[in-house]
Amino acid sequence: MLGSFSFLGWMQRDALMGKQYRTFEIYLVHVDQDKCDGCEECLKFCSVDVFDFSSKAYPVRPNNCLGCGTCVAVCKSKAIIITEI
Ligand code: SF4
Ligand code: SF4
Repeated sequence: MLGSFSFLGWMQRDALMGKQYRTFEIYLVHVDQDKCDGCEECLKFCSVDVFDFSSKAYPVRPNNCLGCGTCVAVCKSKAIIITEI
């Protein structure tokens, strides 16, 4: 039986208090191919294998992205843009 302390009850109470619930984040990973100089740093540092490489970096597994920002920090060409959606 669902009482006053049910999960739904908490959700409704917190919604009334203006809290927002997010169960997961999704990130868009974009590599500007004109800026990428092919250094492979993003490939080395991304722990969840978002990038693959031929002569430039490509975000072949963007669904893996955790939004940590490491690739953006190591990219000296400022070629990577991570956007939370
Ligand atoms: S770190 Fe930047 S410049 Fe280097 S391969 Fe990745 S996107 Fe290209
Ligand atoms: S933000 Fe983190 S998880 Fe996402 S692509 Fe960059 S290094 Fe990988």
